[in-house]
Amino acid sequence: MKAAEIRSAFLKFFESKGHQIVASSPVVPGDDPTLLFTNAGMNQFKDVFLGFDKRPYTRAATAQKCIRAGGKHNDLENVGYTARHHTFFEMLGNFSFGDYFKEDAIKYAWELLTEVFKLPKEKLLATVYAEDDEAYNIWTQQIGLPPERVIRIGDNKGARYASDNFWMMGDTGPCGPCSEIFYDFGPSVAGGPPGSPDEDGDRYTEVWNNVFMQFNRRVDENGNYVMDLLPKPSVDTGMGLERLTRVLQNVQTNYDIDLFITLMASAQTVLKQAGALEIDPASPSLKVIADHIRACAFTVADGVIPSNEGRGYVLRRIARRAIRHGYKLGARAPFFHKLVDALATEMGSAYPELKQQQARVTEVLKIEEERFFQTIANGMEILDTALASLPAGTPLGGDIAFKLHDTYGFPLDLTADVLRERGLTVDEAGFNAAMKEQRERAREKGKFKLAQGLEYSGTPTTFHGYDKLFIEGAKVTGIYVD
Ligand code: ATP
Ligand code: MG
Ligand code: MG
Ligand code: MG
Repeated sequence: MKAAEIRSAFLKFFESKGHQIVASSPVVPGDDPTLLFTNAGMNQFKDVFLGFDKRPYTRAATAQKCIRAGGKHNDLENVGYTARHHTFFEMLGNFSFGDYFKEDAIKYAWELLTEVFKLPKEKLLATVYAEDDEAYNIWTQQIGLPPERVIRIGDNKGARYASDNFWMMGDTGPCGPCSEIFYDFGPSVAGGPPGSPDEDGDRYTEVWNNVFMQFNRRVDENGNYVMDLLPKPSVDTGMGLERLTRVLQNVQTNYDIDLFITLMASAQTVLKQAGALEIDPASPSLKVIADHIRACAFTVADGVIPSNEGRGYVLRRIARRAIRHGYKLGARAPFFHKLVDALATEMGSAYPELKQQQARVTEVLKIEEERFFQTIANGMEILDTALASLPAGTPLGGDIAFKLHDTYGFPLDLTADVLRERGLTVDEAGFNAAMKEQRERAREKGKFKLAQGLEYSGTPTTFHGYDKLFIEGAKVTGIYVD
């Protein structure tokens, strides 16, 4: 089955169970300023879960465009390193708005996976929240999963592997215990079962998360977090289409599924046109490029353009990161924007906006790419020179990282990405100090000009905030775990 057929089969299954098929919402959330990008299928139903919005249906199913490249869910650093993470992916989801709850949700999931998709039962595992006996009993008694394959996961044990199985949309909003379904790729792949210290490996891959929404978390008058019971318990589920496809196509990584094979082949073609010679088909850079074109194209199609702040800056960071990987493979001229065509061919029937906006998206990315190609060679030279004289184990100086940012348009996370490939890190504190200093200088200069009665020309800095986002993007501490 191709990814597109799997998407349809999912929607059809839930339609047959009385669910309304609802179109994906844009990757830019229309009315939620707390959210940088849509990161889950439930986002568009947030108000329905909260009881503020009513729909003519109580069951829905979607294939939702998601981006996890900033804010709470940031998988940017994982791309190219894990077999299962993308910045852009499609989340298949079924939802109950005060209709069915745990029992039916688990039964539907099991039926779809084992009867429609015919996955071998013995390769599936489930996790439940430590205190959720109800879910535990459904799995062991009604579904008949052996107790050793139903794993209770608690929270806040302080260890990075203690992922808490208590889902929250953000610091506030709907939340509740989860039950996640994992697929075991077998002992030839490294990694331990969920909850174990080496769960980050690729052997056990989380495919589907079933969230049982029971609470709304909010900040009370005293500034403390409190949890209110939701008017009616609901269900929110999310299954990564690319991960399910990997399981069904029985391939090693998400990047070996039909969709990515095509995109990576196109990437090789355009990279060669731009000057790359030999390209190792297994290069992680190809994966990064194939991943990032999806994130960039969908983001532009939904109205974002590259800029120095907010969503536009996330877009710029992703685009420049992809371009740098192309540069690494030998491209010396714009190539990235040309992949929009291949993407529109692959995904344009499911997401018509890609075709409708194909020319505009290509043009926007082309301009960004041409701009970055003007400085990337000099920036890389400066970086390489600095690295050549860097004593082993020393982080790259924050002043150099800042110069790369300020003069050559290298976002900090891009510099960190180059360094990570060589086992190095960057002095983030030094970078931030240099940034702060420059801002203060700029402010002083502005004041001075005003005092002299000269025309005020604004603050001559290129950076306009989002420090948090920026700093987060520079993390090079390994795989992020929620
Ligand atoms: P992981 O632990 O693997 O990072 P997650 O627990 O963060 O996944 P959820 O928030 O539970 O993921 O999202 C629901 C589903 O969406 C996951 O079970 C997975 O199939 C898919 N998914 C999540 N993040 C990604 C991603 N970055 N790329 C591709 N699929 C993803
Ligand atoms: Mg999960
Ligand atoms: Mg998880
Ligand atoms: Mg995650």
